[in-house]
Amino acid sequence: MDRQELRRWLEFYRDLGIDTLWLPETAARLEPQAQQMQPAPAAAAPGAGASPAAAPPTMAPRREDAKPAARAAAPPQLVPLFDAGPEGDSLERIRADIGDCRRCRLCEGRTHIVFGSGNPQARLVFVGEGPGEEEDLQGLPFVGRAGQLLTQMINNTAAKEGMSVRREDVYICNVVKCRPPKNRTPEPDEMEICGQFLFRQLGVIRPRAICALGATAAKALLGTREGITKLRGRWHMWRDIPVMPTYHPSYLLRPYNQNAKREAWEDLKKVLHYVYDEPPRPLSDF
Ligand code: URA
Repeated sequence: MDRQELRRWLEFYRDLGIDTLWLPETAARLEPQAQQMQPAPAAAAPGAGASPAAAPPTMAPRREDAKPAARAAAPPQLVPLFDAGPEGDSLERIRADIGDCRRCRLCEGRTHIVFGSGNPQARLVFVGEGPGEEEDLQGLPFVGRAGQLLTQMINNTAAKEGMSVRREDVYICNVVKCRPPKNRTPEPDEMEICGQFLFRQLGVIRPRAICALGATAAKALLGTREGITKLRGRWHMWRDIPVMPTYHPSYLLRPYNQNAKREAWEDLKKVLHYVYDEPPRPLSDF
Protein backbone atom coordinates (compact mmCIF):
# COMPACT_ATOMS: atom_id res chain seq x y z
CA MET A 1 0.00 0.00 0.00
CA ASP A 2 1.47 3.36 -0.93
CA ARG A 3 1.37 6.49 1.21
CA GLN A 4 -1.57 8.02 -0.65
CA GLU A 5 -3.69 4.93 -0.19
CA LEU A 6 -2.80 4.66 3.48
CA ARG A 7 -3.63 8.33 3.91
CA ARG A 8 -7.07 7.85 2.32
CA TRP A 9 -7.72 5.00 4.71
CA LEU A 10 -6.69 6.97 7.72
CA GLU A 11 -8.77 9.96 6.61
CA PHE A 12 -11.75 7.70 6.11
CA TYR A 13 -11.52 6.55 9.72
CA ARG A 14 -10.83 10.04 10.99
CA ASP A 15 -13.96 11.27 9.23
CA LEU A 16 -15.90 8.59 11.07
CA GLY A 17 -14.56 10.02 14.28
CA ILE A 18 -12.28 7.02 14.89
CA ASP A 19 -8.87 8.10 16.07
CA THR A 20 -7.35 4.93 17.46
CA LEU A 21 -6.42 1.52 16.09
CA TRP A 22 -5.25 -1.63 17.76
CA LEU A 23 -1.53 -2.27 17.74
CA PRO A 24 -0.47 -4.92 15.17
CA GLU A 25 1.21 -6.95 17.92
CA THR A 26 -2.15 -7.23 19.59
CA ALA A 27 -3.76 -8.32 16.33
CA ALA A 28 -1.12 -10.97 15.73
CA ARG A 29 -2.27 -12.76 18.85
CA LEU A 30 -5.86 -12.86 17.64
CA GLU A 31 -7.48 -15.53 15.60
CA PRO A 32 -7.36 -15.04 11.82
CA GLN A 33 -10.99 -13.96 11.37
CA ALA A 34 -10.48 -11.21 13.88
CA GLN A 35 -7.33 -9.96 12.16
CA GLN A 36 -9.07 -8.05 9.40
CA MET A 37 -9.42 -4.31 9.47
CA GLN A 38 -11.11 -3.40 12.70
CA PRO A 39 -11.17 0.11 14.01
CA ALA A 40 -11.58 0.58 17.73
CA PRO A 41 -14.66 2.73 18.17
CA ALA A 42 -14.10 3.32 21.84
CA ALA A 43 -10.93 3.30 23.89
CA ALA A 44 -12.29 0.89 26.51
CA ALA A 45 -13.50 -1.90 24.25
CA PRO A 46 -11.13 -4.64 23.11
CA GLY A 47 -11.17 -5.30 19.35
CA ALA A 48 -9.05 -6.77 16.61
CA GLY A 49 -7.03 -6.01 13.50
CA ALA A 50 -4.74 -3.16 12.55
CA SER A 51 -3.56 -3.49 9.01
CA PRO A 52 -5.66 -1.63 6.42
CA ALA A 53 -6.59 -4.01 3.64
CA ALA A 54 -7.43 -3.25 0.01
CA ALA A 55 -11.19 -3.84 0.22
CA PRO A 56 -13.53 -0.94 0.99
CA PRO A 57 -13.95 -0.05 4.65
CA THR A 58 -17.43 -1.57 4.79
CA MET A 59 -15.85 -5.06 4.87
CA ALA A 60 -14.67 -4.61 8.43
CA PRO A 61 -16.14 -7.31 10.66
CA ARG A 62 -18.01 -6.07 13.67
CA ARG A 63 -16.18 -6.46 16.93
CA GLU A 64 -18.82 -8.83 18.28
CA ASP A 65 -18.02 -11.21 15.38
CA ALA A 66 -14.61 -12.03 16.83
CA LYS A 67 -14.55 -15.30 18.74
CA PRO A 68 -14.74 -14.90 22.52
CA ALA A 69 -11.26 -16.42 22.90
CA ALA A 70 -9.82 -13.81 20.59
CA ARG A 71 -11.52 -11.02 22.49
CA ALA A 72 -10.22 -12.29 25.78
CA ALA A 73 -6.66 -12.51 24.40
CA ALA A 74 -6.35 -8.87 23.49
CA PRO A 75 -5.14 -6.44 26.10
CA PRO A 76 -6.49 -2.98 25.38
CA GLN A 77 -3.46 -1.52 23.59
CA LEU A 78 -4.43 1.38 21.39
CA VAL A 79 -2.42 3.56 19.08
CA PRO A 80 -3.67 6.93 17.93
CA LEU A 81 -4.45 7.01 14.21
CA PHE A 82 -3.43 10.63 13.96
CA ASP A 83 -0.47 10.78 16.20
CA ALA A 84 -0.15 14.12 17.89
CA GLY A 85 3.59 13.43 18.16
CA PRO A 86 5.89 11.48 20.42
CA GLU A 87 5.26 11.21 24.13
CA GLY A 88 6.34 14.40 25.88
CA ASP A 89 6.47 16.32 22.61
CA SER A 90 7.37 20.00 22.79
CA LEU A 91 7.86 22.89 20.40
CA GLU A 92 11.61 22.68 21.05
CA ARG A 93 11.63 19.02 20.12
CA ILE A 94 9.63 19.63 16.95
CA ARG A 95 12.05 22.38 15.93
CA ALA A 96 14.97 20.05 16.64
CA ASP A 97 13.33 17.31 14.56
CA ILE A 98 12.92 19.69 11.65
CA GLY A 99 16.64 20.40 11.94
CA ASP A 100 18.27 21.66 8.75
CA CYS A 101 15.40 20.11 6.82
CA ARG A 102 16.04 18.66 3.34
CA ARG A 103 12.86 16.61 3.14
CA CYS A 104 11.44 18.49 0.15
CA ARG A 105 12.49 20.82 -2.66
CA LEU A 106 11.51 23.96 -0.74
CA CYS A 107 14.80 23.75 1.15
CA GLU A 108 16.64 24.72 -2.02
CA GLY A 109 15.58 28.35 -2.07
CA ARG A 110 15.17 29.16 1.58
CA THR A 111 17.20 31.48 3.76
CA HIS A 112 15.56 30.52 7.06
CA ILE A 113 13.13 27.90 8.23
CA VAL A 114 10.12 29.77 9.61
CA PHE A 115 8.93 27.62 12.48
CA GLY A 116 6.38 29.83 14.20
CA SER A 117 6.23 32.50 16.86
CA GLY A 118 4.13 33.71 19.74
CA ASN A 119 2.87 32.34 23.00
CA PRO A 120 3.60 28.59 23.24
CA GLN A 121 0.57 28.27 25.52
CA ALA A 122 -1.68 30.33 23.29
CA ARG A 123 -5.40 29.77 23.40
CA LEU A 124 -5.56 30.73 19.73
CA VAL A 125 -3.34 29.68 16.82
CA PHE A 126 -3.32 31.29 13.38
CA VAL A 127 -2.14 29.09 10.54
CA GLY A 128 -0.99 30.64 7.27
CA GLU A 129 0.21 29.12 4.04
CA GLY A 130 3.98 29.54 3.98
CA PRO A 131 6.67 32.17 4.47
CA GLY A 132 6.99 35.04 2.00
CA GLU A 133 10.14 36.96 1.20
CA GLU A 134 10.34 38.96 4.41
CA GLU A 135 9.52 35.97 6.57
CA ASP A 136 12.21 33.93 4.81
CA LEU A 137 14.77 36.66 5.50
CA GLN A 138 13.84 37.12 9.16
CA GLY A 139 12.88 33.53 10.04
CA LEU A 140 9.60 34.75 11.53
CA PRO A 141 6.01 34.27 10.32
CA PHE A 142 3.81 37.11 9.10
CA VAL A 143 6.27 39.96 9.35
CA GLY A 144 5.78 41.33 5.82
CA ARG A 145 2.86 43.40 4.54
CA ALA A 146 0.32 40.63 5.09
CA GLY A 147 1.76 40.16 8.55
CA GLN A 148 1.34 43.80 9.42
CA LEU A 149 -2.30 43.58 8.40
CA LEU A 150 -2.74 40.42 10.48
CA THR A 151 -1.19 42.15 13.50
CA GLN A 152 -3.53 45.12 13.07
CA MET A 153 -6.51 42.84 12.66
CA ILE A 154 -5.74 40.97 15.87
CA ASN A 155 -4.82 44.01 17.96
CA ASN A 156 -7.52 46.36 16.69
CA THR A 157 -10.38 43.87 16.63
CA ALA A 158 -9.58 42.70 20.14
CA ALA A 159 -9.34 46.30 21.39
CA LYS A 160 -12.64 47.25 19.75
CA GLU A 161 -14.29 44.24 21.35
CA GLY A 162 -12.92 45.20 24.76
CA MET A 163 -10.40 42.36 25.01
CA SER A 164 -6.84 42.78 26.12
CA VAL A 165 -5.51 40.38 23.49
CA ARG A 166 -2.53 41.23 21.34
CA ARG A 167 -0.54 39.44 18.68
CA GLU A 168 2.04 38.29 21.28
CA ASP A 169 -0.70 36.36 23.08
CA VAL A 170 -1.52 34.09 20.14
CA TYR A 171 0.69 31.66 18.23
CA ILE A 172 1.30 32.07 14.51
CA CYS A 173 2.73 29.50 12.13
CA ASN A 174 2.38 28.17 8.60
CA VAL A 175 1.61 24.95 6.80
CA VAL A 176 5.03 24.89 5.13
CA LYS A 177 8.06 26.22 6.95
CA CYS A 178 10.15 27.19 3.92
CA ARG A 179 9.30 29.85 1.36
CA PRO A 180 7.95 28.43 -1.90
CA PRO A 181 9.67 29.89 -4.98
CA LYS A 182 8.04 33.15 -6.08
CA ASN A 183 5.48 32.62 -3.31
CA ARG A 184 3.71 29.93 -5.29
CA THR A 185 1.12 27.75 -3.54
CA PRO A 186 2.77 24.78 -1.77
CA GLU A 187 2.49 21.47 -3.63
CA PRO A 188 0.52 18.62 -2.01
CA ASP A 189 3.67 16.61 -1.18
CA GLU A 190 5.29 19.66 0.42
CA MET A 191 2.16 20.22 2.50
CA GLU A 192 2.07 16.60 3.51
CA ILE A 193 5.72 16.45 4.55
CA CYS A 194 5.66 19.73 6.47
CA GLY A 195 2.10 19.19 7.70
CA GLN A 196 3.34 16.59 10.20
CA PHE A 197 5.24 19.36 11.98
CA LEU A 198 2.26 21.70 11.91
CA PHE A 199 0.08 18.97 13.40
CA ARG A 200 2.64 18.34 16.12
CA GLN A 201 2.77 22.07 16.90
CA LEU A 202 -1.00 22.13 17.25
CA GLY A 203 -0.92 18.93 19.30
CA VAL A 204 1.56 20.48 21.73
CA ILE A 205 -0.12 23.88 22.02
CA ARG A 206 -3.65 22.46 22.05
CA PRO A 207 -5.33 25.83 21.51
CA ARG A 208 -8.99 26.42 22.17
CA ALA A 209 -9.39 27.33 18.48
CA ILE A 210 -7.46 27.60 15.25
CA CYS A 211 -7.91 30.30 12.65
CA ALA A 212 -6.97 29.02 9.18
CA LEU A 213 -5.80 31.88 7.00
CA GLY A 214 -6.69 31.13 3.39
CA ALA A 215 -7.47 28.08 1.35
CA THR A 216 -4.11 26.32 1.76
CA ALA A 217 -4.28 26.35 5.54
CA ALA A 218 -7.92 25.25 5.44
CA LYS A 219 -7.05 22.43 3.07
CA ALA A 220 -4.15 21.25 5.22
CA LEU A 221 -6.25 21.22 8.38
CA LEU A 222 -9.59 20.07 7.05
CA GLY A 223 -8.53 17.96 4.08
CA THR A 224 -11.11 19.66 1.90
CA ARG A 225 -10.91 21.10 -1.59
CA GLU A 226 -13.75 23.51 -0.88
CA GLY A 227 -12.88 27.13 -1.63
CA ILE A 228 -12.31 29.58 1.21
CA THR A 229 -15.39 31.62 0.29
CA LYS A 230 -17.56 28.60 1.07
CA LEU A 231 -15.64 27.51 4.16
CA ARG A 232 -15.19 30.84 5.91
CA GLY A 233 -17.40 32.12 8.66
CA ARG A 234 -18.37 28.64 9.87
CA TRP A 235 -16.78 26.33 12.40
CA HIS A 236 -15.04 23.16 11.30
CA MET A 237 -12.92 20.75 13.30
CA TRP A 238 -9.30 19.68 13.26
CA ARG A 239 -9.44 16.60 15.47
CA ASP A 240 -11.26 17.97 18.51
CA ILE A 241 -10.23 21.60 18.03
CA PRO A 242 -12.59 24.09 16.35
CA VAL A 243 -11.23 25.70 13.20
CA MET A 244 -12.44 28.96 11.70
CA PRO A 245 -11.27 29.42 8.13
CA THR A 246 -11.08 32.98 6.85
CA TYR A 247 -9.47 34.96 4.08
CA HIS A 248 -5.70 35.20 3.94
CA PRO A 249 -4.47 38.72 4.80
CA SER A 250 -2.65 38.91 1.42
CA TYR A 251 -6.00 38.58 -0.28
CA LEU A 252 -7.43 41.34 1.87
CA LEU A 253 -4.61 43.66 0.82
CA ARG A 254 -5.93 43.76 -2.75
CA PRO A 255 -7.99 46.92 -3.14
CA TYR A 256 -10.93 45.21 -4.86
CA ASN A 257 -11.55 42.88 -1.92
CA GLN A 258 -13.09 45.34 0.51
CA ASN A 259 -16.14 43.18 1.11
CA ALA A 260 -13.90 40.28 2.06
CA LYS A 261 -12.20 42.52 4.58
CA ARG A 262 -15.47 43.09 6.40
CA GLU A 263 -16.18 39.35 6.36
CA ALA A 264 -12.71 38.53 7.70
CA TRP A 265 -13.28 40.97 10.55
CA GLU A 266 -16.56 39.24 11.34
CA ASP A 267 -14.81 35.85 11.35
CA LEU A 268 -12.08 37.11 13.62
CA LYS A 269 -14.56 38.62 16.05
CA LYS A 270 -16.29 35.23 16.31
CA VAL A 271 -13.00 33.47 17.00
CA LEU A 272 -11.83 36.00 19.58
CA HIS A 273 -15.10 35.88 21.48
CA TYR A 274 -15.20 32.08 21.44
CA VAL A 275 -11.64 31.83 22.67
CA TYR A 276 -11.43 34.65 25.18
CA ASP A 277 -14.91 35.32 26.51
CA GLU A 278 -15.30 34.48 30.19
CA PRO A 279 -17.00 32.37 31.26
CA PRO A 280 -16.51 30.20 28.18
CA ARG A 281 -19.60 29.49 26.11
CA PRO A 282 -20.29 26.60 23.73
CA LEU A 283 -19.22 26.83 20.10
CA SER A 284 -22.83 26.86 19.01
CA ASP A 285 -23.16 30.34 20.57
CA PHE A 286 -20.73 31.80 18.04
N1 URA B 1 1.86 34.54 4.19
C1 URA B 1 1.75 33.39 4.88
O1 URA B 1 0.92 32.55 4.58
N2 URA B 1 2.58 33.21 5.90
C2 URA B 1 3.49 34.09 6.27
O2 URA B 1 4.20 33.83 7.23
C3 URA B 1 3.57 35.28 5.54
C4 URA B 1 2.75 35.49 4.50
